[in-house]
Amino acid sequence: MKYSELHYERINVDEVKVVISGIVKRFSDAKSVKEQISSILELDKIGRDYASYSSIASLNFSRDIHNEKAKAEKDYYDSIGPDMEECFNSFEKVLDNSIFKNELADKWGIKYLKDVETSLKTFDPKIKEMLKREMDLRNEYTKLTAGAKIEFDGKEYNLAGLGPFHSDKSRDVRKRSYEARFNWFSQNSESLDGIYDKLVKLRHKIAVTLGYENFIELGYMRMGRNDYGPDEVANFRRQIVENVVPVVKKLHDKKKEILGLDQLFFYDGINFKDGDPKPKGAPEHLITEAQKMYRELSEETGEFFDIMVNEELMDLVNREGKRPGGFCTSFPSYDRPYIFSNFNGTDHDITVLTHEAGHAFQCYSSKDQPLMGYIWPTMEAAEIHSMSMEFFTWPWMDRFFKEDTDKFKYKHISGSLSFLPYGACVDHFQHWVYENPDATPRDRNQKWLDLESIYLPDRDYHDIEFPRTGGIWQGQLHIYQMPFYYIDYTLAQTCAFQFWMKSQTDNQKAWADYVRLCKAGGSIPFTDLVELAGLELPFNDGCLEKVVDYVSNWLDGVDPSAL
Ligand SMILES: [Zn+2]
Repeated sequence: MKYSELHYERINVDEVKVVISGIVKRFSDAKSVKEQISSILELDKIGRDYASYSSIASLNFSRDIHNEKAKAEKDYYDSIGPDMEECFNSFEKVLDNSIFKNELADKWGIKYLKDVETSLKTFDPKIKEMLKREMDLRNEYTKLTAGAKIEFDGKEYNLAGLGPFHSDKSRDVRKRSYEARFNWFSQNSESLDGIYDKLVKLRHKIAVTLGYENFIELGYMRMGRNDYGPDEVANFRRQIVENVVPVVKKLHDKKKEILGLDQLFFYDGINFKDGDPKPKGAPEHLITEAQKMYRELSEETGEFFDIMVNEELMDLVNREGKRPGGFCTSFPSYDRPYIFSNFNGTDHDITVLTHEAGHAFQCYSSKDQPLMGYIWPTMEAAEIHSMSMEFFTWPWMDRFFKEDTDKFKYKHISGSLSFLPYGACVDHFQHWVYENPDATPRDRNQKWLDLESIYLPDRDYHDIEFPRTGGIWQGQLHIYQMPFYYIDYTLAQTCAFQFWMKSQTDNQKAWADYVRLCKAGGSIPFTDLVELAGLELPFNDGCLEKVVDYVSNWLDGVDPSAL
């Protein structure tokens, strides 16, 4: 069945309430674990339908933000979110009191019950109205950024459309395109600050209402993290400062030589004098090549990608009215994922094809997991699938980049490593923000600059005012949309590098470990998944150091000016 043929409907909340209260009653009255299991599966089916329809509604809107009908459907699903959460919460409460908990854990493992415990700590009917308000504010941010219309050299672009100019080989074009981007942010900074200020205060209030000191603990639980906390994360950030920041400094100096510049500014993000590698061929060609690649990579990936193509489960190319960014979503009732991105002619198009396809492949691989909550893992684990897929597809990169393949590989590795301090900076910033909910927008910008001096000491914005005064974080949508979803990329990158290292010596074993990890989905927590994949846990002292040693050795062996 094609995406456009998937059944979609509006769920009627009042009807669902009645059905779920019936399930709650049957569950509470159950005389055996068997009866309770069938109640859980009944509820699981409702959860799958709800998740599928709301994903479709949200996706259709992302594909065309000017479509009024699509907006109405998304608005509808946004508006019922808190009521639906209340329904599921009523079930979780009785589940948490089940006398058959041991038997349930025997059937599905302890993860399911732990997830329920965590979820219970994130909701109470008394925060319902605040959750609706939070959703409205998040939507305001999307509307504002997705609707950006920026004039550049006589043409109009959205934020994603401006992207290719940021890595143009002409320094003047790069600089002016960034100025155009930051002018837009500067003109909208009051609105952006206003939205964020309200979000922070609201999230703090939600946390306090639920009995927490501030939003941090709640933020972690919303991310479903129940196997580590802020202390482990802080220790990981410290290791990034110690082990990665000095290597990035070396890469920075090397780049000065390659580009032949005395001083590198923020807008000198390119890696090679004649420009960064670009994929060769039109989007249709790239997709055909990707299909061949996935067929050759393995039987599993071949079957998966054929489905993505045949069932039209991808919308890849940038166009006016499309929400910026790339993501993978899913429709659990139909066992299908979907990939959304904004191809713009840069090498990023290929990384999106492999990154988001990694997510989608994992989702597809874990479709036989018994419970909906077991399909997707928590995000730091999910990003392992995507980032590792970027590496497993390396042997096919010559199909996309031809003579620029080695350039692509150098950029990929050095870029992935250089990303770690930025990721840690975004994470550290958010911890500070939610520890200081009364800070002013000015304080926040100052804090951002302070953190930049620790994590990104070489950054120099030259004379571009907006980032110089600390506002650049406003372009990082996670900070608005999904608080604390960012360190995930750095943890996952550390794992993905380990897969890459393994694939250099024993590709077959590395791939088998990867497929096993994908199939496990979210049936166990992050720390256990890392073990299942035969990887070392990034939090462990020394893990990152080992990875960074290997990666920087590899980089030392490449002379980028000869590529
Ligand atoms: Zn991802």
